[in-house]
Amino acid sequence: MISAPGRVDIVEKPVPVPGPGEALVKISYCGICGSDLHAFETGFLPPRLTIGHEFSGVVCALGEGCHRPAPGRYVTGNNIIGCGRCRMCRRGRDNLCLEMRRLGITAEGTMAEYALLPVKELVELPGKASLEQAALAEPLSVGLHGVNRVQIDPGDSALILGAGTIGLAVLALLKYKGVENVFVAEPAPARRAVAGKMGAARVIDPAAAGLDSEIGALTGGVGASVVFECAGLPETIGEAGSLGGAGASVVILGICEQAVELNFLNLVTREISLCTAFGKTAAEFKEAAGLISRGLVDLAPLITGIVPVAEAAGAFSRPSRKDIKTLVAF
Ligand SMILES: [Zn+2]
Ligand SMILES: [Zn+2]
Repeated sequence: MISAPGRVDIVEKPVPVPGPGEALVKISYCGICGSDLHAFETGFLPPRLTIGHEFSGVVCALGEGCHRPAPGRYVTGNNIIGCGRCRMCRRGRDNLCLEMRRLGITAEGTMAEYALLPVKELVELPGKASLEQAALAEPLSVGLHGVNRVQIDPGDSALILGAGTIGLAVLALLKYKGVENVFVAEPAPARRAVAGKMGAARVIDPAAAGLDSEIGALTGGVGASVVFECAGLPETIGEAGSLGGAGASVVILGICEQAVELNFLNLVTREISLCTAFGKTAAEFKEAAGLISRGLVDLAPLITGIVPVAEAAGAFSRPSRKDIKTLVAF
């Protein structure tokens, strides 16, 4: 748990007992998310809350009336728990549930030896082999939601701004969809190398080249068909529209708390469609977990560190730009 800004504590809590509709899961891996690092910096979380929401594990007990997934089965699960009743849930937009619970943010999280989870949010995995990558089903599903927000065809070109976990998840999904021309702009060399390994058609250092002219050259002067903003910075959100061609779509997946300056004339006169993406639906989570467990996307290059729980605090206080995804092993 995060006890104060800059402080992670490992505490003993009793192993919870599953109630109706719940499963007790022995956690195998839990990823450290950018949102966990942000909470670490600000200390802004309910007191004594267990953090973490990117997990895989083994079912060890079920509450009353539950039969699946059977104890012993490997699972991952969605961290956004929709109420299933509100106007957004009824439209299948449970990522916008008006009464959502979010694991590790408003409800007990999964960076723990044991976690209590609603069985309806669990997805079974075929075997132990996929447990490491399955902990990345959550960020992959965030990428999938972003990709699903726009129409993109194999012949289109895409530009991803930022090669952190979400940017690279979008890259993996676009490659899976058969989009050949996926360009990635990222200032950190280690992350650029991973983007190259994962099949980006061109990886660009935005500090070295004029990104604008580079994208122009790569697209025959047209600009990208779709721009995915995955950096969450005011500058990258501000410039995303101008890197797309006429009629392009821009999807903002990055979370940015500061005000952003946009050149609206440039957006309007070229009819740039601007949309945002937040979280994922339960259906998208299931699809993302399936893509990993069936080996249809390979997120292994994103896992840049696996640390035992005793060393987890160090991974919070010394994150580097080389790190993409650190998993805590239980
Ligand atoms: Zn996350
Ligand atoms: Zn709801």
